[in-house]
Amino acid sequence: MKLEQDYCLQKYNTFGINAKCNTFFEYDKDAELFDFIRLHRNDKDFKFFILGGGSNILFTKDFEGTIIHPATKGKNIVYENGDNIFVEAQAGEIWDEFVDWSIANKAYGLENLSYIPGTVGASAVQNIGAYGAEARQFIHRVKFLHLDSGDIQYMSNEACCFGYRESIFKHLLKGKAIILSVVYKLSKSPNINRTYADVENYLTENSISNPSPADIRNAIIAIRRKKLPEVSETGSAGSFFKNPVVNAETFNTLKTKFPDIKYFTAGNDYKLAAGWLIDQCGLKGFQHNGAAVHKNQALILINTGNATGNDVLELSEIVREKVSDKFGVELNPEAIII
Ligand SMILES: Cc1cc2nc3c(=O)[nH]c(=O)nc-3n(C[C@H](O)[C@H](O)[C@H](O)COP(=O)(O)OP(=O)(O)OC[C@H]3O[C@@H](n4cnc5c(N)ncnc54)[C@H](O)[C@@H]3O)c2cc1C
Repeated sequence: MKLEQDYCLQKYNTFGINAKCNTFFEYDKDAELFDFIRLHRNDKDFKFFILGGGSNILFTKDFEGTIIHPATKGKNIVYENGDNIFVEAQAGEIWDEFVDWSIANKAYGLENLSYIPGTVGASAVQNIGAYGAEARQFIHRVKFLHLDSGDIQYMSNEACCFGYRESIFKHLLKGKAIILSVVYKLSKSPNINRTYADVENYLTENSISNPSPADIRNAIIAIRRKKLPEVSETGSAGSFFKNPVVNAETFNTLKTKFPDIKYFTAGNDYKLAAGWLIDQCGLKGFQHNGAAVHKNQALILINTGNATGNDVLELSEIVREKVSDKFGVELNPEAIII
């Protein structure tokens, strides 16, 4: 356990923004969290934020309150039946280590979500997704501390109200729930998902005709390493904006005007590729003070070395304005701005 005052958060956010908090509380046992919350729960002035790996956060100022940082570790198989293995990981586990561990334990499904930065706790908050998979396809149950009642509660997959990078923990339970662990329902037999062209190309290039889940994991890691900035080298929060979803009428108007527009269907609606929209505004590599649009991936805003949170925020406003002017489409941040 760690309890510090006036604490620097630069190492705790992947943007590498130099922000501080009044109090920093890190715990590696849930009991430490329960004691800490019991002490502060009824204090009306108690302001807190739960910070996992800080890989989807932009600090624009110091945080005048307490940062609660789960560092609880542990992963285990809780139950098996004919087809499935139920595995539980504690909130502070590193997501990618958990994916690696599940494959090693012949529990399959998470391969396409390999190499996403962050923690297991946040995987349920964010409903993380990549390469044709989303966490919600595999989450069985979420265990959390309900701050209003002080009770430990369990939430089923259905009750989590998962959506595109959304869950109940970002809405109804925002600021009211600290996730303690997540149970994932994985498969005993591989169910290879190679729908993405990049994955297929990797397999062809490496002469892999019958890939195992470990091959898919290797493919995803190689692709991501090539395409995305490494968090250890370049500060970013991954995709800064969500892909905007528009209805059929708006989509048809845009498609007539911009025949090459990149999109995916989303039920009756259309999800536009935000990176394409930004790129079409000529913004790849565009720099604003210490912040820039990544030169290869327009959806990623980066810290070029000494950016402040406001540099990134202002850059994001410039990007939003340009996209809105050109396409009449509003971009909304995926990153959480504090
Ligand atoms: C280079 C890069 C690539 C990325 N690629 C992807 C990608 O492909 N797909 C994708 O979905 N995301 C991606 N992301 C975003 C990020 O990795 C995910 O959003 C991740 O889930 C964030 O995890 P974290 O632990 O860092 O959470 P944080 O950023 O610390 O927090 C995210 C949110 O979760 C809440 N939270 C965290 N832990 C808990 C807890 N225990 N209980 C309650 N609330 C909690 C926080 O309060 C906050 O609201 C990428 C980020 C980077 C930097």
